[in-house]
Amino acid sequence: MIKCLDCHYCYACSSSPQHCYWCNFCFDATENCAFVDGATDASFCFYTGAALGSSNCKFCYTVIKSTNLEYCLFCHHCMDCFGCVGLNHKQFHIFNKPYTEQEYWQKVDELKCVMFERGEYGNFFPSSHAASQFLESMEAAMLGVQTKEMGKKIGANFFNTKTDGAVGNIDSTDSYSLADIPECIDDVSDEWIQRPIFDPSIGRRFAFFPQELSFYRKKQLAVPNKHFILRVRDLLAECNVGQYEKKFCGKCQKELIIAKNLKYQDRIIYCKPCYLNYLEQNG
Ligand SMILES: [Zn+2]
Repeated sequence: MIKCLDCHYCYACSSSPQHCYWCNFCFDATENCAFVDGATDASFCFYTGAALGSSNCKFCYTVIKSTNLEYCLFCHHCMDCFGCVGLNHKQFHIFNKPYTEQEYWQKVDELKCVMFERGEYGNFFPSSHAASQFLESMEAAMLGVQTKEMGKKIGANFFNTKTDGAVGNIDSTDSYSLADIPECIDDVSDEWIQRPIFDPSIGRRFAFFPQELSFYRKKQLAVPNKHFILRVRDLLAECNVGQYEKKFCGKCQKELIIAKNLKYQDRIIYCKPCYLNYLEQNG
């Protein structure tokens, strides 16, 4: 949390968001949002993921420079739309069909009444609508979930990526193994560019791009010996996650509520005055 004002139960937010509640990855002039995951310059959004320059969007995912949307996905520069997908510069649309202003509000009222009766209005899209398999999703990686239990609770999809063909038929016999990768960057010749390397722990292949290899050479970094999905998972494990726990300040023992961190589970936590004091003394 960097340069945030009046934000509560938020994490990984920076560059001046204010008055937010249960938000993560919110940046710049984001304000007055709640339960928002990923926002830049968004305001008055609720229960929405990836709200960029948008305001008053509810239960949406990826809404860009849009206003007054509900249950919309991947809409750009739209206003007053309900249940729409992939629209650009549209207004008064329901399920991607245009209506007059008067028809629109009447129809939205009717839809919401039915949704209220069914107990659906106010919920985000169900997990069963996700296109990805739960255990390989960002959600599972962020929460550090490796078992099906939590996924089952939220009705997530499960399928076997190997037998159902999601990752294709991978023949590892024509691939290089992780042990073949030279440890020292100076020993990695151009022949390694686009060479298929099989990572058995995830059952997938990866390769190095020319630009990637020249970056490692410039920085004198060893090339990675893991599939990039696992590398991203490792990085995510270093972020704080959206689960909170009680801890005590390592100096004054004041009780604190902090976001969990999967990698650094035993980190020392200080309350704000003790932390500032620590910085003053240790620079
Ligand atoms: Zn303290």
